[in-house]
Amino acid sequence: MSGSTEPAALPEAGGAVAALRRTALRLAGPVTRPIGSLTAVRTRAPDVVLTFDDGPEPGGTDRVLEALAAHRATATFFVLVDRVRRNPALAREVLAAGHEIGLHGMDHRRLSRLPPATVRAQLAAGHESLEDLLGVPIRWFRPPYGAQTPAVWRAIRGQGLAPVLWGPCAWDWLDRPAELLAAQAARGLVRGSVLLAHDGHAGPEDGADDGPRPRFDRGDLVRAVLAGIEERGLRGRSLSAALVAGTPRTVPWFLR
Ligand SMILES: [Zn+2]
Repeated sequence: MSGSTEPAALPEAGGAVAALRRTALRLAGPVTRPIGSLTAVRTRAPDVVLTFDDGPEPGGTDRVLEALAAHRATATFFVLVDRVRRNPALAREVLAAGHEIGLHGMDHRRLSRLPPATVRAQLAAGHESLEDLLGVPIRWFRPPYGAQTPAVWRAIRGQGLAPVLWGPCAWDWLDRPAELLAAQAARGLVRGSVLLAHDGHAGPEDGADDGPRPRFDRGDLVRAVLAGIEERGLRGRSLSAALVAGTPRTVPWFLR
């Protein structure tokens, strides 16, 4: 809560977030024992976990939200704090529509290549800033590029966050037709899968060099993915929603 000029309002607001964070910690604890990262959910419910990274982005996040609403699906959005600062209304729209927000970083730098003290500082600043900006506890962290060394993993857990990686992937940082990317996303997708897709494209302003911004409509991709999921009797859910009936499947995930 640092940086505010209204000290009288701080203790109560901070206390509320801290209390919620303690609950989130208690829930997230079993997710990561002993050195695991969540990559899927064990469940008997017909749930597929939808995750979207690198937003919020005008022209991306809004299209994804429309498609999710049309299919009554929910999702988890891993956001960049710098982007939330630039697009606060869009981030609030994500929460208002019943979706969940996790942390993807202050920016999109590869944490595995930063000194451990810098990683800890980036995670602490990102965690606190995001909770202050949104007023909700943040439970999940996804490292940019999935780049996680044991030191990065420890820093994530040290912040009381749980690392969330993924299973199937839409490869949607590439500029390909939405139908083709949806077919890619469906590969290996089963009940309990955590699907990686994007509602934004990290660029040089985010500390990333991920090539040119794709031109396909991200709403078209989500509609095609959800049509395929529904054909198989499954549904799209946020991670926390899927964990109501399911339990975390974790693996050691280390990647530079
Ligand atoms: Zn990313």
